[in-house]
Amino acid sequence: PQHPYTRALLSAVPLPDPAAERRRERIVLLGDPPSPAAPPPGCTFHPRCPKARDICRTERPLLQLAASREVACHFPGD
Ligand code: SF4
Repeated sequence: PQHPYTRALLSAVPLPDPAAERRRERIVLLGDPPSPAAPPPGCTFHPRCPKARDICRTERPLLQLAASREVACHFPGD
């Protein structure tokens, strides 16, 4: 996954292998989801995104190709 939200969601999926499950690193998102009635400017995920930078707070990311996938993020990937 290239989008930080998708990476956080997938990090919450339990693994069927107990050894791998013990090593699994979860990405815990802090804060509350924004109100859909008053979404924040820029990227609507920026208040909770661990990768957010200044541009995320003002410019909505457009779909772009990253690692052969379409993702709406200014800083896709790792
Ligand atoms: S655009 Fe910025 S805030 Fe939005 S998901 Fe990407 S890094 Fe996070």
